[in-house]
Amino acid sequence: MIPFPLILSSPSGGGKTTLARMLLQRRGDVGYSISCTTRAPRNGEQDGRDYHFLSRDEFAARRARGEFAESAEVHGNHYGTLKSEIERVFGTGRHVVMDIDIQGARQFVATYPESVLVFLLPPSAETLLGRLTGRQTESPEAVLRRLTGARDELAAVGSYQYVVVNDDLERAFTQVASIVDAETVRHRRVPLLEVRVRQLVDGLDREITRYRRAT
Ligand code: 5GP
Repeated sequence: MIPFPLILSSPSGGGKTTLARMLLQRRGDVGYSISCTTRAPRNGEQDGRDYHFLSRDEFAARRARGEFAESAEVHGNHYGTLKSEIERVFGTGRHVVMDIDIQGARQFVATYPESVLVFLLPPSAETLLGRLTGRQTESPEAVLRRLTGARDELAAVGSYQYVVVNDDLERAFTQVASIVDAETVRHRRVPLLEVRVRQLVDGLDREITRYRRAT
């Protein structure tokens, strides 16, 4: 298998974190790139598992050292994907699932053009608001900032290869998993394809000769 980066983007509350977790729990062929952020941890979030939580100074220092494959400011906080995280997951032979925003996705694809981009669409504005307020971790200002951001983020849907409507979590999961399966067997990602085909052709030639002789 030739692993690839799988980018999941959606407006905040679109379900990408949940879907990324489901992929990790249910499939052995994917690993997660843990991002860095300057935002404060939410209730239940753990440093090094959900994010690497960094101070603004530390984030800036890492960016200056060129440690990020991409970074962006989202809703007033900085987020970034460490090159070392991508290499760590690729090193285990697995696809890298990333939950990153649209600006980050654009930067990332410039460096990793083989990336597979999936945009998750929330089924409705009401559902999105319900998911954001249901978390009870966000201030009203933060909810408003995320809703306003969602309007802009939706404009990027055209640059994604796949669009999955996240109205039913199980169905959305099946669709994302199907995308991973299909992308794994893309022509250019089948390992040693030319060698395999050549071996098959050689084998067929031998069989044809033998068959001719026998008949
Ligand atoms: P949250 O604060 O809700 O965890 O994430 C807010 C936004 O930041 C989401 O749109 C999420 O996809 C994005 N995000 C999370 N990690 C990264 C990252 O490493 N890079 C970029 N560019 N965006 C990220």
